[in-house]
Amino acid sequence: MSKSLEVVHLYTRMNYPSAVVFDLDYTLWPCWCDTHIYMPLKAVSKTEVSDLFGMTLSMYRDVESILEELVANGVIIIGASRTATPRVAKELLSLLHLNGKPAIKYFDNLQWGQGSKIHHISRAAKELKIEEELKKGQFILFDDEIRNRDVSSINCHFAHISDETEGLTRSIFDAELATWRQNFEHIE
Ligand SMILES: [Mg+2]
Repeated sequence: MSKSLEVVHLYTRMNYPSAVVFDLDYTLWPCWCDTHIYMPLKAVSKTEVSDLFGMTLSMYRDVESILEELVANGVIIIGASRTATPRVAKELLSLLHLNGKPAIKYFDNLQWGQGSKIHHISRAAKELKIEEELKKGQFILFDDEIRNRDVSSINCHFAHISDETEGLTRSIFDAELATWRQNFEHIE
């Protein structure tokens, strides 16, 4: 491989992490699906659902372009939620579409349950056989709950979603990826 091709290859490899993990409630959509939603759910359109009492819900605006970008760059996408009702979350992910496709199809792995997200992420890495990538700092978690920053102890970069009215935004995503790239260069 020529020197210039090597540089391009290195840049491409380092440009995105191996896996990005997303919390669901107040990261991808503006509600707690175990307390704010009353079944049954009904699709109002491909991008909006309503519950028993007519409350409507959609993904935050920038989620579609961000997940598309990750897929286009070969990044593994993982969901990690503490919700008490995974059944409701899965139905939301099935009914809400991104780019005409059920959102659930974007996820390579979904992890549920109480406790630290260290467990969710470790389990996902094991199931996907990418534990080495996790050890090397190739994971990012986007999450609105600051307590989940403990994932940095397993070398997963923690990206905080600070505003629940906006959720995951393009500006947060780009800024956190830039921070991760800087940190990752130091690790390398
Ligand atoms: Mg959350």
